[in-house]
Amino acid sequence: MAERQTATAAIQRVYRGTFIHSTQRKVVEVLEDALLGVDTQGKISFIGSGQDLSQLSQTFGFSPCVVTELKEHEFFMPGMVDTHIHASQYSYAGTALDMPLLQWLNTYTFPVESGFGDMEFAKKVYTQLVKRTLRNGTTTACYFATIHTDASLLLAQIANDFGQRALVGKVCMDRNNSVKHYKETTHESQEETNRFIAEFFARKYPLVKPVVTPRFAPSCTGALLGQLGAIAKNNHLHIQSHISENPEEVKLVKELFPDSESYTDVYHKYNLLTDMTVMAHGCYLSDKELELFRQTGASLSHCPNSNISLCSGLLDVRNVLNHKVKLGLGTDVAGGYSASMLDAVRRTLDTSKVLTIQDPDHKTLNFEEVFMLATLGGSQALSLDDQTGNFEVGKDFDALRVNVAAPGAPIDLFQNDGPKVLLERFLNLGDDRNIVEVFVAGRSVLPLAESAR
Ligand SMILES: [Zn+2]
Repeated sequence: MAERQTATAAIQRVYRGTFIHSTQRKVVEVLEDALLGVDTQGKISFIGSGQDLSQLSQTFGFSPCVVTELKEHEFFMPGMVDTHIHASQYSYAGTALDMPLLQWLNTYTFPVESGFGDMEFAKKVYTQLVKRTLRNGTTTACYFATIHTDASLLLAQIANDFGQRALVGKVCMDRNNSVKHYKETTHESQEETNRFIAEFFARKYPLVKPVVTPRFAPSCTGALLGQLGAIAKNNHLHIQSHISENPEEVKLVKELFPDSESYTDVYHKYNLLTDMTVMAHGCYLSDKELELFRQTGASLSHCPNSNISLCSGLLDVRNVLNHKVKLGLGTDVAGGYSASMLDAVRRTLDTSKVLTIQDPDHKTLNFEEVFMLATLGGSQALSLDDQTGNFEVGKDFDALRVNVAAPGAPIDLFQNDGPKVLLERFLNLGDDRNIVEVFVAGRSVLPLAESAR
């Protein structure tokens, strides 16, 4: 199991114990009595066996007494990747789940989002959300903010200050008839997106990047979609949006873009489907549309809590994976009421089981596969898998130290469970009380500093 690179940067931390992660070949790989070293750049510099401690300490120049040993019932897993979450909607999470998508947007979402021009309110909500998601073990988040450029930049700053890896998008929309002041002209949207990107890059955040964010096709004219596609291409940027979430929305897109062959074709036509694109939902995509996703390298974010809470649909993840389309999980706060990726894991399993109830031939997802989707799969969906997603030498150390038997946490253990069973129990029963430490790029971001609590 020994994997290492030649020593370059000095070693910052060394851990000994159980590490559980996914690799390209194995959905769950358990490394028992492993030794993992993190260098001062926050990168994993070696992974070896605990028995090779003295040899590794010589090679990498650290003293064996700096090694931190994990306790019984503890393990490290990669940090979880939330591939789709609306930061502004966190202000009403857990409410307003009684309408389908289009009515829900007009009744609840747009009126709330329009208030984010108020920087004090934005600061309060965004700070609480970044803290909450870190506590829940989300080390990477792909955020939608609102149409307000300065408040969106503030979200990026807050994620950076707390040490979270993030993609942050200023929402673009030049079409909205329900809350009339909550939209931009096509020109404003383009100009403000350019300003957002320029100011973002000037800040040189190491782990937070901008993402081009057309809200979804019904909120954008073709002219705006085309401009955003060009901005993403010229600046080599990530892109995020929504697609095929509910039948009424799919029908609306057909009416608004009569020349396009499909919903997917609308985005494709405006150069918005690339290998740096993540589209939320995709419940009603045809095989042909999935094929276009595969060809372009665009990915899907599966948001099961939202899909059920807004009665949108049931995504057949197995079918998406069979089409070799990249897929990660998302909370989609606040269409999804929980900001925890553990909830996304459970709802993904539930949705797959509902599909099996409907069709006994459906091949149900298992917890190992869903663990992969919440970690490595998410990093692949966001094209960040060269930096994060699992424990590979050279990647950043984005990790959760999990204690399945943490005092006060909701899991009772009765027998001597092996590591894989402990992982299964944590995924199904655990919560933030089991996540005792969180690291992003080698930096301890949880527990939060006293002043930040
Ligand atoms: Zn969404």
